[in-house]
Amino acid sequence: MKEKELINKFFIPFHGLSYPEHVLKGIGDDAAVVSVGGELLAVSVDTMTEGVHFYPGIDPEDLGYRSIATAISDMAAMSATPRYITVSLSIESIEKSWIEKFIKGVKACIVQCDCYLVGGDTVKGALSIGVQVMGVCESQPIYRSGAKENDLVAVTGFLGAAKTALSFLGRRGELSPDIKYVLQKYHRPSPRIDLSRKLNKYMNSAIDISDGLVSDIGHIASQSKKKINLIKESVPIDPKILALVTEKTATENALAGGDDYEIAFTFNKEYLEQVNKIGSALNVPITVIGTVGQGLGVSVLSESGELFNDYASLGFDHFRPRV
Ligand code: ADP
Ligand code: MG
Repeated sequence: MKEKELINKFFIPFHGLSYPEHVLKGIGDDAAVVSVGGELLAVSVDTMTEGVHFYPGIDPEDLGYRSIATAISDMAAMSATPRYITVSLSIESIEKSWIEKFIKGVKACIVQCDCYLVGGDTVKGALSIGVQVMGVCESQPIYRSGAKENDLVAVTGFLGAAKTALSFLGRRGELSPDIKYVLQKYHRPSPRIDLSRKLNKYMNSAIDISDGLVSDIGHIASQSKKKINLIKESVPIDPKILALVTEKTATENALAGGDDYEIAFTFNKEYLEQVNKIGSALNVPITVIGTVGQGLGVSVLSESGELFNDYASLGFDHFRPRV
């Protein structure tokens, strides 16, 4: 059984199909949205386990930073402002210098994102980190389900560096600037909080790219009940990875790689100019990569009309048997 099948089969039916009025968005999006005293609160939790989300021997400061940044990214996907964080830490033994470095990384990201660490839990066990994020929706939350026919599909930043970094994780000593760059992108993702808030009134749907561009855009397509067509050549491959891998691998890493924590979103094409202006003002590239149409699913087409079906299935799934 795949990860999404497990969620669909066991967790989504948990409350039947409907939630009370105060649960605006339950299971199925990057975060839940609930109404508390008239305010909308976005809540999400992410777990990082050794060997899956990070590698043994990772610098604890990087681990701390990455755990918080990847969790906060779900708030950018909802166009919410992250505020409060709780951290649950499972660890085999307490080694003072490790903990100090870990906390330093946690703090750096929390301070940078203007959040507060308000609690957590510490237990003895295999190394894993759970991060819960609570954020406020100052404007309407943006859901995966809001894509409209004829919307443009866009993505923030450049893609593929984090997946490219996987081959270099744990390397020490003299590293080339390109390797340093991809490692930095992997260890210290930048959740697109400011950008997503500024884009709020233009976005119809959004998701963060944690499992792979095409497979994550597949969630917008399925929840919006629309067909999304992506143009392969339009996808902004991170130019720096072309020095490290072949063009074919670079394309694969950008379209299916995951871990980039950029935002994919759809918007009415009338707003193209405003959207581009916001990207330029914040110095974040925004690239139109496709369109929303009738039907279901995601197609990746080359400019010459050739169809590529394999990128969606290459996206990350925890329970896919590995060969
Ligand atoms: P993301 O990649 O944005 O963190 P996931 O793919 O992990 O999202 O999860 C998809 C949806 O399923 C989310 O809404 C999440 O809250 C929900 N979900 C995942 N696991 C569970 C679980 N064990 N119990 C309840 N909901 C879950
Ligand atoms: Mg997400």
